[in-house]
Amino acid sequence: MNAPQQLVSMSPRLRRAVDASRLAARLREECRGDVLFDAGSRGRYSTDASIYQIFPVGVVVPRDENDARTAMAVARDLDVPLLPRGAGSSQCGQSVGEALVIDHSKSLNGIVAFDRDAMTVTVQPGVVLDQLNAFLKPHDLWFPVDVSTSAQATIGGMAGNNSCGSRSIEYGNMVHNVLGIDAILADGREIAFGPRDTMRSDPNALATVNALEAIGEREHDEIATMFPSVLRRVGGYNLDVFNPQSVRPYTRDGSVNLAHLLVGSEGTLAYFSRLKLQLAPLPKHKALGVVNFPTFHSAMESAQHIVKLAPVAVELVDRTMIELARANPAFRAVVEAAIIGEPAAILLVEFTGAGAEEQSRNLDRLGELMGDLGHPDSVVRITSPQAQKELWEVRKAGLNIMMSMKGDGKPVSFIEDCAVPLEHLADYTDRLSDIFRKHGTHGTWYARAEDARDCR
Ligand SMILES: Cc1cc2nc3c(=O)[nH]c(=O)nc-3n(C[C@H](O)[C@H](O)[C@H](O)COP(=O)(O)OP(=O)(O)OC[C@H]3O[C@@H](n4cnc5c(N)ncnc54)[C@H](O)[C@@H]3O)c2cc1C
Repeated sequence: MNAPQQLVSMSPRLRRAVDASRLAARLREECRGDVLFDAGSRGRYSTDASIYQIFPVGVVVPRDENDARTAMAVARDLDVPLLPRGAGSSQCGQSVGEALVIDHSKSLNGIVAFDRDAMTVTVQPGVVLDQLNAFLKPHDLWFPVDVSTSAQATIGGMAGNNSCGSRSIEYGNMVHNVLGIDAILADGREIAFGPRDTMRSDPNALATVNALEAIGEREHDEIATMFPSVLRRVGGYNLDVFNPQSVRPYTRDGSVNLAHLLVGSEGTLAYFSRLKLQLAPLPKHKALGVVNFPTFHSAMESAQHIVKLAPVAVELVDRTMIELARANPAFRAVVEAAIIGEPAAILLVEFTGAGAEEQSRNLDRLGELMGDLGHPDSVVRITSPQAQKELWEVRKAGLNIMMSMKGDGKPVSFIEDCAVPLEHLADYTDRLSDIFRKHGTHGTWYARAEDARDCR
């Protein structure tokens, strides 16, 4: 048998293995960064924070932007799929796949431009959120999409996932905070995605804008009918970019920004080489009210009323997490200072603003509301910044705390990014709990409540 016949009879996987050795050789020759095709490295990159495991074809850790371009060109030449990767903290398998992984977390993590007056920053995709916010703090600014994995999550990965932080009621998701993306498309073209009008005046981008507009027009009615009107909608592409169905506009002035089509595309539409972000002033005063509930249902039922008080965050911690955190010496004192008796669930409700007195009044209003809803004296007021920070740390460590559950049965995190209108929340969680019961198990929950208000 000669070589070409051998290739024809190979399984697709084996054929790719042949491509992989050519790919590795080309990458080693043409790239300056690390090229990792050994089983150990591929094993490391075969997992993320999800329950999935898929071995990549290989991994490139580019040394600079040109190196990343070269790696993409080689992969394109050899017809190998590409998978950009930041911290790999995705929970639904977004950052694993049988592809050439481009890991930009090591070297492509620079801050490229910063405009204090316009409150914008342009970064490479591997910048970690905490790193960015440490840079911004002396300027009294922050990037407010405060995901729980802020110490690991990269801006490229956050944009890839259309991530959403605890304060999304106030600031929105990534799609509401990304102003532009310099993208490399599958065919190697480099296009600066941003405001439609700016792209229209760029000869390099015009054909793409026209093609996208034609699709938007063709699907206009279907999108208007089918897209749910919830803020935290991160499933699928933002095809409604021309006619946003989100409960808040994607841009402050209601104009169209085509970078928003790329946000949430999980690496499938383009590689992001640079991202321009909208920043926000750091809040001056914060007040945290912890509402204690006798039943999980009552917490879910109350969320829709609490958001009307205009908090910036409403986060749920359920009984399982409360108990596990109490059992952990590192968290016990912090949790016990926030609870009254043995609550079935608590909601962390945060208010921010310019004055401390105003925040104190907000906590009063929260207490009154809970009284009206039949839960008098259920609010613990936390006003010291240190105590607030410590309680938020407990919430941030939620999944780790959950994993500390003792016994043979371990929790599996598998329903992610599920967005439910607040008025259906109690019903949704009741019915899902019924399903768990039917299968002889139970679920535990951590979530955030958002409403339909446009707050900015
Ligand atoms: C304990 C825990 C808590 C979490 N809490 C939150 C939370 O509060 N909010 C939230 O939204 N998520 C949360 N997540 C999920 C995850 O941490 C975030 O979505 C995070 O922003 C992902 O960033 P990353 O750098 O790890 O991205 P990765 O997982 O590496 O990548 C995410 C996606 O983006 C794509 N991508 C990465 N870089 C690029 C690029 N340069 N160009 C194009 N596409 C790219 C990838 O291909 C992938 O599809 C949590 C996860 C865990 C484990």
